[in-house]
Amino acid sequence: MKNDFLCPYCKGKLNVKSNIVLSVTTESKKSGLVFISPKLGNYETTTHPSFKIKKGEHLDYFCPICHANLAAIEFDENLAKVLMTDKSQKVYEIVFSEIAGEHCTYKLVEDKIESYGEHVDHYTNFFGAKARF
Ligand SMILES: [Zn+2]
Repeated sequence: MKNDFLCPYCKGKLNVKSNIVLSVTTESKKSGLVFISPKLGNYETTTHPSFKIKKGEHLDYFCPICHANLAAIEFDENLAKVLMTDKSQKVYEIVFSEIAGEHCTYKLVEDKIESYGEHVDHYTNFFGAKARF
């Protein structure tokens, strides 16, 4: 069994076939669905051609099932999070940037962090004593 991605609030499964599906609202208040790769560090995203996301804009991510805002303001106002479970049902927090084109993802479990993406340094400090890169 592969990794599953879950909403932290309703625990609904966010991965369908080979993508994570999230609802997104742009700075100009346009909403749409985005497909995100479940492979951490892969930042290819897919949207409907009529739903355009501008590089550098702040996006609000929502659970497409319960519509909860996935913002992870306990870390930073520009970060969002989902949960991931692996084949042994261990639960990880997956924290990622809400800025379009900013490539950084943090996988948190207990006091350990794994980080992915070329912009990981942008938020390293926000994890404080938890950071063990
Ligand atoms: Zn939800």
